[in-house]
Amino acid sequence: MTKEETINQCEEYVLHTYNRFPLVIDHGEGTTVYDTDGKAYLDFMSGIGVYALGYHYPGYDEALIGQVRKVLHTSNLYYHEPLAEAAKNVVKSTGMSKVFFTNSGAEAIEGALKAARKYAYLRDGKNDHEIIAMNSSFHGRSIGALSVTGNKAYRDPFKPLMGGVVFADYNDLDSVRSCVTDKTCAIIMETVQGEGGIYPADPDFIRGVEKICRERDILLILDEIQCGMGRSGSMWAFQQFGVTPDIVTCAKALGCGVPVGAFVMNQKVAEHSLTAGDHGTTYGGNPFVCSAVNAVFRLFHEHDIVGHVQVISKYLAEKLDGLMASHHSVVAHRGMGLIRGLELDPSCVQAGKVASLALENGLMIITAGHNVLRFVPPLVITEDDVDKAVAILDEVLTEVE
Ligand SMILES: *Cc1c(COP(=O)(O)O)cnc(C)c1O
Repeated sequence: MTKEETINQCEEYVLHTYNRFPLVIDHGEGTTVYDTDGKAYLDFMSGIGVYALGYHYPGYDEALIGQVRKVLHTSNLYYHEPLAEAAKNVVKSTGMSKVFFTNSGAEAIEGALKAARKYAYLRDGKNDHEIIAMNSSFHGRSIGALSVTGNKAYRDPFKPLMGGVVFADYNDLDSVRSCVTDKTCAIIMETVQGEGGIYPADPDFIRGVEKICRERDILLILDEIQCGMGRSGSMWAFQQFGVTPDIVTCAKALGCGVPVGAFVMNQKVAEHSLTAGDHGTTYGGNPFVCSAVNAVFRLFHEHDIVGHVQVISKYLAEKLDGLMASHHSVVAHRGMGLIRGLELDPSCVQAGKVASLALENGLMIITAGHNVLRFVPPLVITEDDVDKAVAILDEVLTEVE
């Protein structure tokens, strides 16, 4: 197929819920993606935070191929070794107690919401519990996840959504406090807001929220689907704030390319929420995806990926500060580790335009929130990759300004 044929056939048959870049991807290698014309693109979006190890990281493919030759799927009616190992990996790394594997981030959120509702139901036998979510948050596109997503444009066409959700302002403790009632069963938030424009939690805010939760037996659900798995500079972003959630959700980089997510809970929630018959999934946590999770944890450990993030992210942060200093269109730089945003002045340049021009110049980058360039590269990028990406952006920003 030619490039045009592929694009046309996709547009003819695939429901148009995405405006795609005019690019037909063929394969990837390291931190580079190649299109069907053989043109190379430096990848600074990693399939929206999925490809944490880049493409074909040594040892990853072999682990998956080994599992393909054994068994892909068993259903959740039987035990298998990849599940035993993956569950231990996720539970140990989060410091939690029990995990449920899902097929996506949205599904991890659904499970977390169900666990919270059941926990409160077991406590007082009532069905009127409320969940506090954050404005500008993003938790996914299924009805439950959408119900706690703080973006009216995503929510409004699909109302009525799940009831009992109230929205507070992120990083505003008084706003959260004013939403708490005797019916509140959970507070859900991202440790670093991703889609909303890359806003890390303010340490006093997230600790204050944790304190409210402890005082009122409210469950703290931290969504680390985008910022987790080492991206923040620690395995889980909450570990840098000294807070302990009751439930953590993860997905995206958990399998570094295969569709797998999870919600992980502490002992208290595990003992007093979902039991046999309460929740399920046909595919979730099958041997194939668990073998990927196990390869990812092993490679992260063997090659100290998180240590690398701590070093390389400082370098990237300095370079992004440099871009801000030399371009009047860049008005803010926020983030942690390798989840960063450059906010652009909308009266001057459009982030979408910058992303399109960057792509033409060989750099894959995406946007977030209100006119923010989002940096979620593979965690294995080098100084050379950073230099190349920043040089392309420097050129593009100069051009559009
Ligand atoms: C991507 C994302 C989700 C949804 O994950 P899907 O796999 O697309 O359903 C939820 N929360 C956050 C923070 C995300 O970044």
